[in-house]
Amino acid sequence: MKQEFLIRGAGRIPSPCCGESMSVIGTRTRKCKERSGGKRVYDIRRLGCDSCGRIHHELPDFLVPYKRYDRECIEMVLSNPTTHDIPADESTLFRWADWFNSIVDYWIGCLVSIMLQTKQDNIPLDLTSATPMTALQKIGRLVGDAPRWLERIVRPIVNINLWLHTRSAFLSERG
Ligand SMILES: [Zn+2]
Repeated sequence: MKQEFLIRGAGRIPSPCCGESMSVIGTRTRKCKERSGGKRVYDIRRLGCDSCGRIHHELPDFLVPYKRYDRECIEMVLSNPTTHDIPADESTLFRWADWFNSIVDYWIGCLVSIMLQTKQDNIPLDLTSATPMTALQKIGRLVGDAPRWLERIVRPIVNINLWLHTRSAFLSERG
């Protein structure tokens, strides 16, 4: 079953299912790997929708759903494939690059849809370019390349419940 996530923010966010308030019904402790090579311990809160009772898992903003390394590590590797200092093995690095390339068009679709729904008028008009672009260049046109760019993708997509598990991204054959 698909897990439902939320990214913890400064303010309270409404439940993705009903747009209503949510109550904390429990927490779980987890660990993730960070840039220093150490492990970080964090809590995942389980929140119940006050309207329908559906359960959502609230993640800290330094995480990416389903990933065992923190967001900073993944972002560093995707931004600097050959010069990063992240202590992850080759197969992990390869999987991140593969995941990024396969899912970037889906993310762009989600972000554009969010921008349209929230009536933002800064959507680049020429998202399809004649010259081939890397995944990083493509997504950079929407979220920029300043630090925490990956968070600017993860947070809005997760919070409206459109984040895909990697496997489902492959099955849907996007891009
Ligand atoms: Zn609900």
